[in-house]
Amino acid sequence: MKIWIKFIKYLILNILIIGVFSFTCYGQEEYKDPKNKALNEIYPGGAFYEVQHYIEPKSNKQPKNIILMIGDGMGLVQVYSAMTANRGHLYIENFKNCGFSKTYSSDNYTTDSGAGGTALSSGVKTYNGAIGVDSDKKSVPNIRELAEKKGLKTGLISTSSITHATPASFIAHVDSRSSYEDIALELTKTNIDVFIGGGIKNFETRKDGRNLSKELRDKGYQVLYNINDIRKVKTGKLAGLTAPEHNKPMPERGDMLVPATQTALNILSQGSKGFFLMIEGSEIDFIAHENKTPGVVLETLDFDRAIGAALKFAASDGETLVIVTADHETGGMTINGGDFKTGKVVAKYSTGGHTGVAVPVFAFGPGADQFTGFMENTDIAKKMMKLLRVN
Ligand code: MG
Ligand code: ZN
Repeated sequence: MKIWIKFIKYLILNILIIGVFSFTCYGQEEYKDPKNKALNEIYPGGAFYEVQHYIEPKSNKQPKNIILMIGDGMGLVQVYSAMTANRGHLYIENFKNCGFSKTYSSDNYTTDSGAGGTALSSGVKTYNGAIGVDSDKKSVPNIRELAEKKGLKTGLISTSSITHATPASFIAHVDSRSSYEDIALELTKTNIDVFIGGGIKNFETRKDGRNLSKELRDKGYQVLYNINDIRKVKTGKLAGLTAPEHNKPMPERGDMLVPATQTALNILSQGSKGFFLMIEGSEIDFIAHENKTPGVVLETLDFDRAIGAALKFAASDGETLVIVTADHETGGMTINGGDFKTGKVVAKYSTGGHTGVAVPVFAFGPGADQFTGFMENTDIAKKMMKLLRVN
């Protein structure tokens, strides 16, 4: 009898431990469990594009503009899977200055996108789930705010909701990444020149009853909901809200990230003092959580085409530094086989979550040589602030 009571106590304790453990592990982000694992692991090959070669402008001067591109969840293997799918070449090959970023957060070996985004935007290691605050929950300035204060033009682009952790780290200061409505409100209080992403509902169907899109219009913003309208904008303040929440995944999303990038660069380059632009390939992470290789490949290819658009601008402009990196790797992805002729990729995954492995850093343009070797993720923000003279 006694042994039974002991056993039941043991069982209850275990259930409690598992409950708390899964809450702390999965509390930060929601994602589905991978299904049809074997099928999802293969990208059979598909359409591919020609990659242009751009000559890196040689200059000892500091950059006037910085374009920071974050592939959420984009480790080296995600990059190489896309490279394999695109018959062995990506725009990323234009980068000659390459390094690695240590992604750990202040409270975890494995970061989330809140702490990862805050490290890249503010140069501060913080706890998982934080947006623009340090481990004591005190606000820390981000590079976009600092650039805005110095009179530079600024912009943000993401394929996710613009209030999601990565872009939020360049906007807001909140204890928790899930405070989407607060993040949207903080965005309307900035003087940002361009933002394009999803998240209409955080602006228009809010608990406080405010319609932030209307407020943005009153402030002089062109608030547009469709990429075909957005791409026609040549000047002025632009708020592009292209989905109720996140934009659709590839291939359903279609051509959004490239025209968003071109439109933003067009507007931001009209300032005399330079600009800071952050562009996120948000959904590499989403689909890597589901361990689906075709999606990982298509999202990374979409991001690479946006990188191509940024490099084209930087190569002709000559005063623009382009940095491409990730906040962390997602999925523990590895490649077990592939074919450069057909673009086939056979991948496997070690987790449905993030991993703690270092991620690549690529830099092109004035100051690019400072982004080689191993560095802390926070060094990227600190170096950018120094190069842009906004710190
Ligand atoms: Mg993100
Ligand atoms: Zn994630």
